[in-house]
Amino acid sequence: MSLKPLLPGALSDRGQQMTLGVMGGGQLGRMFVQAAQAMGYFTAVLDPDPASPAGQISHYHIETPYDDEQGLAQLMQRCDAITTEFENVPAPALLTLGAHRPVAPSSACVAVAQDRIQEKAHFVACGPISGVFPAPYAAIESSELLAAVPADLLPGIVKTARLGYDGKGQIRVKTREELAAAWDQLGRVPCVLEKLMPLQSECSVLVARGAGGQVVSFPVQANTHHDGILAITEVFEGAVPADLAARAQASTVAIANHLNYVGVLCVEYFVVDNGQGGADLIVNEMAPRPHNSGHYTQNACDISQFEAQVRALAGLPLPVPRQHSPAIMVNLLGDLWFNANGVRPQASERPVSPPWAQVLALPGTHLHLYGKLSARPGRKMGHLNITGSSVAQVRETTARVLALLGLPALP
Ligand code: ADP
Ligand code: MG
Repeated sequence: MSLKPLLPGALSDRGQQMTLGVMGGGQLGRMFVQAAQAMGYFTAVLDPDPASPAGQISHYHIETPYDDEQGLAQLMQRCDAITTEFENVPAPALLTLGAHRPVAPSSACVAVAQDRIQEKAHFVACGPISGVFPAPYAAIESSELLAAVPADLLPGIVKTARLGYDGKGQIRVKTREELAAAWDQLGRVPCVLEKLMPLQSECSVLVARGAGGQVVSFPVQANTHHDGILAITEVFEGAVPADLAARAQASTVAIANHLNYVGVLCVEYFVVDNGQGGADLIVNEMAPRPHNSGHYTQNACDISQFEAQVRALAGLPLPVPRQHSPAIMVNLLGDLWFNANGVRPQASERPVSPPWAQVLALPGTHLHLYGKLSARPGRKMGHLNITGSSVAQVRETTARVLALLGLPALP
């Protein structure tokens, strides 16, 4: 990465408008594009889907597969620096791009985050620095390794090493027989078996790190999942106990530094019973990009996670982000478009818009929809950020929003 900043609104060395590119056109790419455009950059998106959320709004949309040589060449021609919005971009494609343009995060960092076996090995290596370790686990890559799994990892969760998300690619197992059957069911691909931990709660931390090594942390996010998908994120003082929050931030900084990471990184943690009436922290997984749990920053912080991504990529300064309002983020899944009157979707039923006018009549509600053309149950369609002058007020507004949308009450 070059240390010379790519100034917004300027002409680049290519003699063109300064342009930032992103691999992937989903909602995270869209919000990156929005942040980049707000600052005056041109943008380019590479995504094969002609209707992709980011492609719809970008100056340039290159509609090719992620490993298409011509597509990658076009992206390089268009862009002064390139980032990614999802971790399953082929690492070789990032390597190709990185040979000609600044790419952040690097192909090497994305490769670690793409593979749970490498990711956990990295967390183990950072443990002595940060004092935070992953749950006990074993890699399962062969019948021999399967047979050698220590008995005390059961009951546990088998997770595919690659391509899992939102709880997909995971099977809970209690016995060796169930473990063997689960590995068969997952197609005998490389997996990890993780010990099932007694979770008290879950949290996550975003950091942004520049090419010069400066690193800043956002406040710690308290997360609630439903059916393996993030449902609610709460961020205010006390949402996560202060001592655990400080440890989670320090651990995330150590993880980013140890990878020589450039860009926005999110690390997920479990808060577990320490067996002595207290709580301990376990590092779960990381995402080499902005994260669903960080969306509250758009309305509650003076720098959003997407602006931080832009700044890190462009080599601009990264002052410590300040949260100015307590906030709660509510994920909006496609189910809501079918849930009118609390009725579950029928195959024949047409989607109906949720009651936005009533939701937006409440003070401090900020609606973000991703421009997806069709709602499907489980599909991430958007999110609501709710801010207010006090925690009590934010919780009160959120309770009313959840009731209007027919969603479960706050935890
Ligand atoms: P994904 O990539 O799908 O987000 P995660 O590894 O984060 O996969 O697991 C999804 C969810 O499953 C976690 O947020 C947590 O609620 C639960 N979970 C995962 N691993 C464990 C574990 N070892 N013990 C207890 N719960 C777990
Ligand atoms: Mg996760």
